[in-house]
Amino acid sequence: MTELFADMALLPDGWAADVMLRWDGAGRLIEVTPDAGAVANGTPRAPGPVVPGMTNLHSHSFQRAMAGRAETRGDPAVTGGDESFWTWREAMYRLALMLEPEDATVIARHLAVECLMRGYTGICEFHYLHRDPNGAAYEDPAEMSLAVVSGLREAGIAVTHLPVLYSRGGFDDAPLNPRQKRFKGSAKSMLAIVERVRAAFAGDPCVRVGLAPHSVRAAPPKAIADAVRALAKLDETAPIHIHIAEQEKEVADCLAATGHRPVTLLSETVGIDARWCLVHATHLDVAEIALLAQSGAVAGLCPITEANLGDGLFPITAYLAAGGRLGIGSDSHVSRDPTRELALLEYGARLTAKRRNRLAGPESPSVGGTLWPLAAAGGGQAAGRKTGRIEIGASADLVALDREHPDIAERQGDQVLDGWLFAADSNPVEDVYVGGDRVVADSHHPHQVEARTAYRRLLARLFHE
Ligand SMILES: [Zn+2]
Repeated sequence: MTELFADMALLPDGWAADVMLRWDGAGRLIEVTPDAGAVANGTPRAPGPVVPGMTNLHSHSFQRAMAGRAETRGDPAVTGGDESFWTWREAMYRLALMLEPEDATVIARHLAVECLMRGYTGICEFHYLHRDPNGAAYEDPAEMSLAVVSGLREAGIAVTHLPVLYSRGGFDDAPLNPRQKRFKGSAKSMLAIVERVRAAFAGDPCVRVGLAPHSVRAAPPKAIADAVRALAKLDETAPIHIHIAEQEKEVADCLAATGHRPVTLLSETVGIDARWCLVHATHLDVAEIALLAQSGAVAGLCPITEANLGDGLFPITAYLAAGGRLGIGSDSHVSRDPTRELALLEYGARLTAKRRNRLAGPESPSVGGTLWPLAAAGGGQAAGRKTGRIEIGASADLVALDREHPDIAERQGDQVLDGWLFAADSNPVEDVYVGGDRVVADSHHPHQVEARTAYRRLLARLFHE
């Protein structure tokens, strides 16, 4: 199928009626015609309102296997009775040391099916499990990268792969601790992985490869600058992602070690522009809010994970007022539903201000009608893919909702998005297209049973053997 007729579709200028969509063999939209009038017999019709697919701009896919397994207090003798991001990280490291490449494929495939069925059409994989469980290099340095990307692509989700540069244990240049031994790499070794994955998926228009310095804590600015320069030689617009200011402790450590907060440090030593996605830019001061908003970079927000880990709230109201760009990611995958992420963004702003409807922007008085297109476009930018807007030249990454769903029915325009984000507990996503391929049809993914069975078998081995 290379065409679709939608009674209602969300285009860059707003909702349009009777929209004819056509795409070419590479899955790129070549026609977007509103008010197309009568439709020819045999033209497929969307089952309900059509919106641009959402990019999940921050994923560590293996962490799906521990979602909901870190919600129990640990031994106070180990944690000191103080459960935090840092005690969670120890549990995550234990899982990271257990996984073989084929396990990474199984988890990634299952995760991608779940994400697609909720309306994510692309995923940015921030990937740091490079070495084998003993810390030795695989014969093929891209072994784990290829395992993850293959799993994601088998399910049909578009992928931006971001090998992570992780070279030190902290601002004092401490060596990595033994639990971080799978992560270790240099600018040179990361670029080798970038080249290998680019070559392996060269013919696939739904795969893009960029790079991710882990953080200014785990990679020194000089190594980040070297890696960014080398990446630009391969692909001058390739996306670059970094964890930036997730925890107050890392901001304080950065200040103590360098005299700057992380966003300021990155801006002054490496530079930030529209290729960048700053993930978990949670702790910004007033100057950094303006700096990030004006840089053209995307703030990568993961509201559910940030709440789960006790990170804090991103200053979203001030950031949007400054014209900042943003997208959403499911990060540790305690949720795989983009509407829950967006609703929590708004609820965080409401709980802070004790007021309602905080994030409706100048384009629309509706919160859902503001946040979905903003995050879809920001996610597309962060992925380095033409997606997140239904327009000519963009990838045909589309989500069609069920017009019979109780929270979608009898609604027009942005009310559809408000119903989906704020009221629909059951899933109204009916059809999902990625690069023009219908990967979810009638709320069903062809691999969902097989992917889940393999995933459950893996969980049994990981947690019960
Ligand atoms: Zn992360």
